[in-house]
Amino acid sequence: MGAHIEAEEADDTGAGRTARRDEAVRAAVEQGLLGPDSPIVGLLDVTGIRESAAALRAAFDAVAAPGTPVLHAFAVKATPLVPVLRLLREEGLGAEVASPGELALARAAGMPAEATVLDSPAKTPAELREALSLGIAVNADNPQELARIDTLTQTAASRSPLGIRVNPQVGGGSIEALSTATATSKFGVALRDEGAREWVVQAFLDRPWLTRLHTHTGSQGIPPALMARGVAETYALAEEINLRAGRHQVDTLDIGGGLPVNFASDATTPTYAQYARLLAEEVPGLFDGRYGLVTEFGRSLLAKHGTVVARVEYAKASGGRAVAVTHAGVQVAARTVYAPGSWPLRISAYDAKGRPKDGPVVVQDVAGPACFAGDLLAEGRSLPLLEQGDYAAALDTGAYYFAHHYGYNSLVRPGVYGFGPQGSFAVVRRAQTVREVVAESGGAQVNALTQPPFGPA
Ligand SMILES: *Cc1c(COP(=O)(O)O)cnc(C)c1O
Repeated sequence: MGAHIEAEEADDTGAGRTARRDEAVRAAVEQGLLGPDSPIVGLLDVTGIRESAAALRAAFDAVAAPGTPVLHAFAVKATPLVPVLRLLREEGLGAEVASPGELALARAAGMPAEATVLDSPAKTPAELREALSLGIAVNADNPQELARIDTLTQTAASRSPLGIRVNPQVGGGSIEALSTATATSKFGVALRDEGAREWVVQAFLDRPWLTRLHTHTGSQGIPPALMARGVAETYALAEEINLRAGRHQVDTLDIGGGLPVNFASDATTPTYAQYARLLAEEVPGLFDGRYGLVTEFGRSLLAKHGTVVARVEYAKASGGRAVAVTHAGVQVAARTVYAPGSWPLRISAYDAKGRPKDGPVVVQDVAGPACFAGDLLAEGRSLPLLEQGDYAAALDTGAYYFAHHYGYNSLVRPGVYGFGPQGSFAVVRRAQTVREVVAESGGAQVNALTQPPFGPA
């Protein structure tokens, strides 16, 4: 286990990752995965994904008392691709799901119920019923949802571990939209609101079957110290509930995900080992073996292992600015295009043979294919000049990017390939076809609006 941590920390600089990526881009061009007729792909570094999963397990094993049950439930929303979930399952991880679609993906990947956690803020009665009948862990978001669970548990027995999500209201981070522990966040029971803490305690005392507390203080932009404070507050609440109950009623703490990702270089920082050590210092009781643990990391497991590579269709100049018009834009990087200040992406330049480009650096825009002016992956970026037929790679896009296609301009979803040693590739998701775009856009309902009762009989 210690060896895993050292392996990860030895590669914290990301040198291995950079070399693997360069090799994959060159092999993708050589093998025709990328080219004039296939101008954009998503690439996933399978070695890197395995290393991150191993580093996560090792980090918690190193601080938790021997025998502590720890489930690392990958937040499916970060990379909702079935083969990726299967890979993570093989690496010993579970799944955190927040919709019927995500649950179906986890099940398709073979995630067992006992390694699955359902957390969405808007679960319907049907979703709750399904989760309870499968035995999946459920965290109730609010009093109304708990009332639904009360009704369901009265009518049918369930193996599901059940808990309540709390919002410790410790504050937000640098990205408002991703800060879940602000005073007015929509998630969980806001603990500092008047009467709320007492309501949670009483909810547990009234329901012997409630055994978990859940918190997730936010994603990207939340400093680890603030995440740790949210965990500390949740731990303190568990201790209070158990004291008042006179028994070890809360037996599992779900501490959420949210470890920030470094988008500025290939280095992994912060590491899981650093975060686990921070938690062990700030909340020592968390790891003394009295509590089972669930984590829900998403971005930090996948972001740095994904790369979008797009061909430069045209290189032009506009108002004195060099502009590379590529095939990667808003459809694969919606966050960056609409909020470039919060979500800047690094771009690497490769030549037409897929080799890293060098040469004098030029200030240029890297544009996408969509028909609006703001469709830029990078604005005024200093890079070796991108020329027609070259490739631009958007780095760190393995989570919340190419797996989150946005159908603007009816641009097709690009294919996603996993890469391994010696230029080997596997299809993770094949590219969408134009025929599929038509079918998914009501192609079979072509006359729906022009036939009776809307049009002439
Ligand atoms: C989004 C989310 C996560 C994962 O967050 P990351 O920043 O991707 O690690 C975990 N838990 C819950 C409840 C979430 O909503």
